Amino acid sequence: MRVLLDETQLTQGVHQLADEIDQYYGNSRPLTVIAVMTGSLVLFADLIRRLSMPQRVGVVQASSYRGGTTSGELHVDSQMMIDVTGRDVLLVDDIFDTGKTLDRLRGMMLECGASSIKTAVLLHKQRDHSVELRPDFVAFEIPDEFVVGYGLDYLDMYRNLPYLAILEPAEIEATASEHHL
Ligand code: 5GP
Ligand code: MG
Ligand code: MG
Repeated sequence: MRVLLDETQLTQGVHQLADEIDQYYGNSRPLTVIAVMTGSLVLFADLIRRLSMPQRVGVVQASSYRGGTTSGELHVDSQMMIDVTGRDVLLVDDIFDTGKTLDRLRGMMLECGASSIKTAVLLHKQRDHSVELRPDFVAFEIPDEFVVGYGLDYLDMYRNLPYLAILEPAEIEATASEHHL
């Protein structure tokens, strides 16, 4: 495993991200902040505690990496979603890769009557994206590699790592064979 961002760097990045979001919204306008589960779990907990405005907090489940490291069909489970009608919504995800997840969720929030929608991500992958949408708030630009830790998984492993690391092909194989035990 090759560490890309250590704990100190992640903390600094999240603080900076929170400052940018605070600057944009101010500290009195209420915000509905929605975590795109499960990858944003760790970022979300750290981020919402740094934001100054009153917040309503919710989650939505989206998964596209069905057991692999390449993007598959997107599944969205909005059962746990809170009402966004007439609200200013901030969607928080771990990483912007193809962009399909946030693009689709943004569409859903609009359909549900949100009055504004912005997106914040910890990581933005430097690659061609398949949608026009770009994230509004980004903590780090990263190369086009498969990363884990700080909420990001491979087969639901590694989310608990306090740092962000590139998973080497041998580790991907080893984790996959463990998984199929
Ligand atoms: P997108 O829809 O932008 O292609 O992908 C977003 C989702 O794919 C992220 O929320 C994340 O769950 C997953 N993903 C994309 N790139 C990576 C990566 O490098 N590592 C991990 N663990 N997940 C990724
Ligand atoms: Mg995700
Ligand atoms: Mg995943």
